[in-house]
Amino acid sequence: MTDLLRYHWVLLLVAAPCVGSFIGVVVARLPQGRPFGFVRSACPACDHVLSWADLVPILGWVMRRGRCGYCGAAISPAYPAVELAALGIAVWSLAVMPGWLAWAGSGFGWTLLTLAWIDARHLVLPDELTLPLVPAGLAVAWAVDPGRLGDHVIGTVGGFAAIWALRWLYGRLRGREGIGLGDAKLLAAGGAWVGWQGLAGGLLIAALAALLAHALRARLRGERLGGRELPFGPYLAAGLWITWLYGPLTVG
Ligand SMILES: [Zn+2]
Repeated sequence: MTDLLRYHWVLLLVAAPCVGSFIGVVVARLPQGRPFGFVRSACPACDHVLSWADLVPILGWVMRRGRCGYCGAAISPAYPAVELAALGIAVWSLAVMPGWLAWAGSGFGWTLLTLAWIDARHLVLPDELTLPLVPAGLAVAWAVDPGRLGDHVIGTVGGFAAIWALRWLYGRLRGREGIGLGDAKLLAAGGAWVGWQGLAGGLLIAALAALLAHALRARLRGERLGGRELPFGPYLAAGLWITWLYGPLTVG
């Protein structure tokens, strides 16, 4: 049994692209309130229920050359891309985190990936994904070191308060909503995972990445900086992910 446990990483790497497929379904359905658990996937164009062979991650898309095998409709390369991204998260997590923490990290990373993608497309961070991260993060923190659970509880409350305060300040100064409560819930979830010590670093990475991306976009497309509403969730997710992997949470 212990021998088998040593090869837990193989299972994680096999599971990762399948989780990626599931993430693709969640992203397509959750923002519209459609059910996504335990339903067979169907082609969005012809509604033909897909066979298990069609659903093999990455390979299924490559074999069908990015088209539905029934009606020939093009299937977005976003689907194999997210399957690859989910695999990348598992590899990254395994490379940095020891033992079962690689699984916990993958779960965190996959949820962040889902949130980032939904926010990029719909400018919303669903409670169904941010809120469960709070108890999950606190449980992992407790399992790693029960003595430091308090840091993570403070991180949760502090993360929410920090964004809420920013939002209030922005509203007073500009008279409109600059940052959503979804971002506050995401940083609260992040605080549960990285502890209050990781909040400043996570926010800093997120802000720098967002500034860089927006400046690049403005340059490439000739848009005015701050000219339109842009999602902050993907950058916050990236900042929290980096902080969780390399930040103040150390495993003795
Ligand atoms: Zn089809």
